[in-house]
Amino acid sequence: MAEDVFVDERRHMVEELRRLGIHDEKVLSVMEKIPRHLFVPEYMRHLAYEDSPLPIGHGQTISQPYIVALMTEALELQGEEKVLEIGTGSGYQTAILAELAREIFSIERLHTLAEGARRRLELLGYGNVHVRVGDGTLGWPEEAPFHRIIVTGGLPQLPHSLWEQLADGGRLIAPIGGRYDQYLWLYIKERGAQRKRALCPCTFVPIVGAHGWPDEASLRRRFFGFHRQEEGGSERDV
Ligand code: SAH
Repeated sequence: MAEDVFVDERRHMVEELRRLGIHDEKVLSVMEKIPRHLFVPEYMRHLAYEDSPLPIGHGQTISQPYIVALMTEALELQGEEKVLEIGTGSGYQTAILAELAREIFSIERLHTLAEGARRRLELLGYGNVHVRVGDGTLGWPEEAPFHRIIVTGGLPQLPHSLWEQLADGGRLIAPIGGRYDQYLWLYIKERGAQRKRALCPCTFVPIVGAHGWPDEASLRRRFFGFHRQEEGGSERDV
């Protein structure tokens, strides 16, 4: 592999995460190791270790490192879990999960992003990841139950299907709220009952799906009665 010129930048990013209150050493050491610059578009590599989200194309973003660290820490992974992720995006969060849990099932709505993530994760040697194109708000019933579920886009409410697919004793983390701002919630299933805790305010791109937000094309159809072809819109909705 070519020499990694980002080692120092990654170390600084981790120092910053520590300063911001992330203290799980396993999470920090995995983030010090994973090459985030390979998960962002080439022209943005120099910004890969700033603590900010970055565009990854198709109107989507790779989440801010602090939020990724916070969510991962809150999952309290022990190493043996089966994890469901909704919103693969770049695959960066997926790689972190793959380092800390047994098997990862990740669902991405957009075909092009799913392909990119699959390719990157394969290249980096993660054999315990399965990426599927589909509507993650329906979960992955054939593989349920999951010990952990993580949703990396905003939802109007927690979908019943995801709660159902969470194992007893499991943890689910999701941004819930409005289309443009949410609160990060941690849900814990204890003998079927729900305990929940709000972690912090956040801003994620919307999860679009049956139990998520309607897509913008269908909103336009609903309000204006027509659908304008998206520019360069080769993206498939599923
Ligand atoms: N964890 C990703 C975040 C990507 S942003 C990263 O750090 O790169 C959220 C992603 O959710 C986007 O890629 C978007 O296309 C995807 N998404 C939106 N609605 C979805 C749905 N119903 N099912 C699965 N993925 C969805």
